[in-house]
Amino acid sequence: MKHNHPNESMILQKDKLLFTPGPLTTSRAVKEAMLHDVGSRDAEFINVVHEIRKHLLSVAGVSQTDGYEAILIPGSGTFGIEAVVSSVIPRDGKLLIVINGSYGKRIRDIAERHEIETVAIEVSENTPPDAQQVRRILADDSEITHIAVVHCETSSGILNPSHEIGAVVKEQQRTYIVDAMSSFGGIPLNVAEAGIDFLVSSANKCIEGVPGFSVVIADRLQLLVSDDARSVSLDLLAQWKGLEETGQFRFTPPTHAILAFRQALRELDDEGGVPGRANRYADNHAALVHGMRRMNFREYVPAELQSHIITSFLFPEDPNFEF
Ligand SMILES: *Cc1c(COP(=O)(O)O)cnc(C)c1O
Repeated sequence: MKHNHPNESMILQKDKLLFTPGPLTTSRAVKEAMLHDVGSRDAEFINVVHEIRKHLLSVAGVSQTDGYEAILIPGSGTFGIEAVVSSVIPRDGKLLIVINGSYGKRIRDIAERHEIETVAIEVSENTPPDAQQVRRILADDSEITHIAVVHCETSSGILNPSHEIGAVVKEQQRTYIVDAMSSFGGIPLNVAEAGIDFLVSSANKCIEGVPGFSVVIADRLQLLVSDDARSVSLDLLAQWKGLEETGQFRFTPPTHAILAFRQALRELDDEGGVPGRANRYADNHAALVHGMRRMNFREYVPAELQSHIITSFLFPEDPNFEF
């Protein structure tokens, strides 16, 4: 790494490297992009937001012409999940949640708080949900309007079969919500091919920006009918309309985080887009597993279900081990 200014390089050297799925260590250029103050209603900033929204659709493999929209919601990733759940599921809707980890449970917590009727398929944290079971439940219960799945369950690192489930959801004509928080940008995924109506991610995971906002990729027709939001600040349709009509956020946007994110998206492109980044993550994952196995650690999730995003290892039996 090249350091120009002695004081800055001292600060950067003191930072620990973050190996968490996010917030994570960002590049120097991403941090430097934040050394600017921009007005939230300036043409310059509006252009950045426009560029980011367009870029996000391309990361999702879709475009506005295909009928998709990218919406930015201030707050952490959970705010994006709550915006979707409380905006697009009607009061009399019913949500099927596939749960095999803490992020699936969090979706249920959010739905219950909004008094949405829920039903769950719960399996253990190292087991993938069965798409055929999803089909049976949907076929048997016509009251279920929406289904939510976590793509990469960050609690274990398991990769859930979001495509297979998507095919079932389309066949059964329900609305499909995917929490792709920790996979979007790091695992190739085409939102249209996976049959996803609402995908949620955030700025500080595989895109490698800084925390500050979440990202929703939405099927426009599904978005347009979701006019019964139970929150003012997390109203997904109103947020989209603001971004479309004036190019602006309704309320103060995280301006610096957005400048950083534009740089992060450019660096994703420079790395060869999502496939390029996925290759680097897969190499890192392989190196990690190799080294941990040499020290006699064993992975928790079976290799064929394991994502290259996060890897869980079993606590060793050795009495000398202390976490
Ligand atoms: C990180 C993450 C979230 C959101 O967490 P926040 O702390 O709100 O950013 C949601 N789902 C998954 C799968 C995640 O990895």
